[in-house]
Amino acid sequence: MGKICAIFGGSRGIGKAVAELLAERGCRLVIIARNLEGAQSTACNLGGHLALSCDVSSEQEVQNTFEEIQRHLGPINYLVNAAGINRDGLLLRAKTEDMIAQIHTNLLGTMLTCKAAVKIMTRQQGGAIVNIGSVVGLKGNSGQSVYSATKAGLLGFSRSLAKEVAKKQIRVNVVAPGFIRTDMTSHLEEDQLKKSILLGRFGEPREVAQAVVFLLESPYVTGTTLIVDGGLQLMI
Ligand code: NAP
Repeated sequence: MGKICAIFGGSRGIGKAVAELLAERGCRLVIIARNLEGAQSTACNLGGHLALSCDVSSEQEVQNTFEEIQRHLGPINYLVNAAGINRDGLLLRAKTEDMIAQIHTNLLGTMLTCKAAVKIMTRQQGGAIVNIGSVVGLKGNSGQSVYSATKAGLLGFSRSLAKEVAKKQIRVNVVAPGFIRTDMTSHLEEDQLKKSILLGRFGEPREVAQAVVFLLESPYVTGTTLIVDGGLQLMI
């Protein structure tokens, strides 16, 4: 039987690419996003996987989602947290509601899904979690102070959780992408920004997904952050 994997933010971008790779490996997937049609479309195109609607920033919705997964598929083996938003702009102009939205989705949302997953994984004495951070959580970026803070927070959270759950054979790792071609970066000028990337181009979602799958499947890797940024962090 294939592994059971829940992918929050699996309808588009990096999460969708992770879903594609895991489907090729015979995993049974749960594609989760706020927009149910988006999740259903991805789940259906990959061969009839489960699709659910959930806003990760709502504890009640996360709880309901895990109950649904349990009912349909049983205990999960893998959790991928790829749900994320950005509201870029200088701090002086940032609206408090935008700050809160980023913290609630990127940081609190990941904490809530990890809490629910760890409960299940503890019972079955094993599992693997990959959280999608960002290279700006390590290096910072002007115009992304709040977003960077959520991603830096994710690193501390993931390392601490890795320490808490290692005895239960649950592994927690982070993938930190640079500029990746998804909806999130579609407004950016790649021609301008590629000068700051060692490999001279944005990355493809599938190139990040390969790192996520590597970490899910590597039994002796936990508490680590794998940077997938074409060498961006060496240039900034
Ligand atoms: P994307 O193409 O915009 O996709 C975001 C996904 O998250 C969608 O499936 C979206 O579906 C879901 N989502 C957003 N808010 C949600 C919420 N509150 N609850 C549940 N699902 C939610 O973004 P992406 O570029 O693939 O980004 C994926 C992750 O990688 C994010 O954490 C992002 O911060 C991180 N990242 C991206 C880049 C990049 O260059 N693209 C770089 C570094 C890190 P719905 O809208 O239907 O909810």
